[in-house]
Amino acid sequence: MNDLDVRLRALLPRGRVLTSPAQLAAYGADGLGYKNYRPDAVVLPADAAELAAFMRGAKRLAVPLVMRGAGTSLSGGPVAAQGGVIVHTSALKAVPVINAHGFWCEVESGVTLNDLDAILKPHGVFYPPDPSSGPVCTLGGNVASNAGGAHCFRYGVTSNYVLGVEAVLLDGSVHRFGGPAGGRGPWREDWKRFMIGSEGTLAAFTRFWLRLLPLPEKVWTFRATYPDLTTTEAAIHALVADPSYPAAIEMLDPRGVAMVESSQMACGLPEGSFLLLVEIDGPAPLVDGRVPHVAELLRRAGSTDVTFSEEALIRQKLWKARKAAGGLLGQLSPSYVVQDAVIPKRALAEVLRLVYDEADAAGIRVVNVFHAGDGNLHPNFLFDSRVPGELEKVERISKHLMERVIAVGGTLSGEHGIGNDKSGYMPLVFGPDSMRLQLAVPAAFNPTHQMNPLKVFDDRRFGS
Ligand SMILES: Cc1cc2nc3c(=O)[nH]c(=O)nc-3n(C[C@H](O)[C@H](O)[C@H](O)COP(=O)(O)OP(=O)(O)OC[C@H]3O[C@@H](n4cnc5c(N)ncnc54)[C@H](O)[C@@H]3O)c2cc1C
Repeated sequence: MNDLDVRLRALLPRGRVLTSPAQLAAYGADGLGYKNYRPDAVVLPADAAELAAFMRGAKRLAVPLVMRGAGTSLSGGPVAAQGGVIVHTSALKAVPVINAHGFWCEVESGVTLNDLDAILKPHGVFYPPDPSSGPVCTLGGNVASNAGGAHCFRYGVTSNYVLGVEAVLLDGSVHRFGGPAGGRGPWREDWKRFMIGSEGTLAAFTRFWLRLLPLPEKVWTFRATYPDLTTTEAAIHALVADPSYPAAIEMLDPRGVAMVESSQMACGLPEGSFLLLVEIDGPAPLVDGRVPHVAELLRRAGSTDVTFSEEALIRQKLWKARKAAGGLLGQLSPSYVVQDAVIPKRALAEVLRLVYDEADAAGIRVVNVFHAGDGNLHPNFLFDSRVPGELEKVERISKHLMERVIAVGGTLSGEHGIGNDKSGYMPLVFGPDSMRLQLAVPAAFNPTHQMNPLKVFDDRRFGS
């Protein structure tokens, strides 16, 4: 046993410290599998009290600490880029309170999104943010990356639903920022907003109070295919401006359609088409009355292939195809990078053309599957990191993409966060003054950068 082993085992009970190479191998990467950083150890606190006790001693370990939920991040967030200890929250799985009348719940940070959905459903309420990684991603990861999802077009992202955060700081002190009523507690200002989206750089989250909504009475899902980018973009603009106010507007390009159709998720999409998946929901009489109008809008924009359904099985099949797209990409290629830019919707076709042109010219396959309603682009670049030069090509295209995104008024991340994948692009958006102000927040909570170093800002290095 090395020195770190011994000190970790003094902080946590038997079985809660992993150090063998085989155990650590599973924690080397996040969703960006090609970037691997072996941690020195992984700890698995049994509950919030054990996590707080660990944090009280962790400062003295003098190694980086990296919080990890399910590790589905696509930005290089929950990885030990500077070595150190990964704190895996998988055991924090309680949902102690569901207050359906007050429309809030209390949930621990290791609960997975789909488990929370299933627990809430019988109470007639739901938690709207819905990243496609829902079967495995945790609320801790969602809050730390301010996750979005398909239905965030209308409902808003994670930050719109967090009423309170329980966080353990580096000195082991436990704080509640906000609470069930969204109150501020002893903290005079809205400190929870600092925590949301902090990507593990400020504190370890153990518990949240989340806002819920009543389940919509009726849902209709539309499938419309288009022959080209221009007509697809016209349909998106028409939907966004329409008073039917869809909950979700998702897009798959022809390469995404081909991928779905050659998988078990095939649902009869025409070859070569751009797919829009649109959903409207709300009170039954209201939503039913809007169906013909939305179908007509989709046709008028240029689709000769519009279908729609309220039946759960048909709707689920379409959503499964959309949500499984990320997993299918992993089967197509040894490595892939998903970019996560946000652009004004007027620039959609222009930026997508740049993506196709640059990727095609470099011989890199690209598939676009994204939340079109909120202008959240996700070009997936497929490559083989073992082939010399391939990664460099993808990085070059990604940089050109980000430059164009910023030139048209967009920004670096809509929902995946910055991690260490996009930290190098931060100066494209933020000047020195803004960077200095942003660094003032970790300077207060995590002055030595012990928590998640080398993330978000390239020069946040522990010990420097
Ligand atoms: C197939 C696929 C589809 C996806 N679709 C979407 C999507 O539609 N929308 C979207 O927003 N994202 C999506 N993602 C990205 C990812 O799932 C989300 O960012 C998710 O929120 C990460 O949750 P996680 O539990 O896996 O967190 P992790 O990946 O483990 O961690 C993410 C970040 O949160 C920090 N963190 C984790 N737990 C804690 C904690 N308890 N306290 C403090 N910090 C913590 C980590 O340090 C890290 O910086 C997708 C990913 C995949 C693989």
